[in-house]
Amino acid sequence: MNLVFLGPPGSGKGTQAKVIAEQIGVLHLSTGDVLRDSVKKGTELGKKAQKYMEAGELVPDDLIVGMIEEKLASGELDNGYILDGFPRTVPQAEALRDMLKRNDSAIDKAILIDVSDEEVIKRLSGRFFCPTCNAGYNYPAKMPKQEGICDNDGTKLQRRPDDEEDVVRNRLEVYQRQTAPIIDFYQKASLLHKVAGEGSLQEITARLLKVIKEN
Ligand code: AMP
Repeated sequence: MNLVFLGPPGSGKGTQAKVIAEQIGVLHLSTGDVLRDSVKKGTELGKKAQKYMEAGELVPDDLIVGMIEEKLASGELDNGYILDGFPRTVPQAEALRDMLKRNDSAIDKAILIDVSDEEVIKRLSGRFFCPTCNAGYNYPAKMPKQEGICDNDGTKLQRRPDDEEDVVRNRLEVYQRQTAPIIDFYQKASLLHKVAGEGSLQEITARLLKVIKEN
């Protein structure tokens, strides 16, 4: 099963992609996670991507498409996947379609997790993570036992630099301008499915699994 998860920043697509990939036994590939790891390790890709990420802008298409091409060539994606955070522009969606076609493959479904702008801003301003073990926390849905401290290792929690309010607003604008058009792209390809993204984590997982299992 080859899936694309779409949705604005803070729609919960990363959290859901992780849970669902485990349940259906496919790989979860988050381009945001790969890029953050590259920045942390100081790789060439990381050095090129950092300034865009910090401003809440998209990293240039050729860098991202090259990264996905490498993943496809490595065979890591051979047993199915959920793409989370890619594609983010129409040229990326077209490049993905063409790369897959060359391998006699295709996307089975593109699933949009639908959440309002208001809810997104509320969620992102309450999002924290542990810089040691990478655990994610969310006020008020998933609070640490002690405020501001990781349950697993006692590290002081941090906010992603791109979750600060002005950057969040820019990320939402970028989403509306550059990413929302791919909803239409997948609609025209008859691959689009929509799931309401407000509710408990478990409710949304159940809605997604239902759509994934439908013929
Ligand atoms: P995310 O964790 O998916 O919110 O991604 C964090 C940041 O990484 C984004 O704001 C972009 O700067 C960059 N990024 C991730 N995926 C892509 C992509 N497919 N195209 C361009 N930039 C991306």
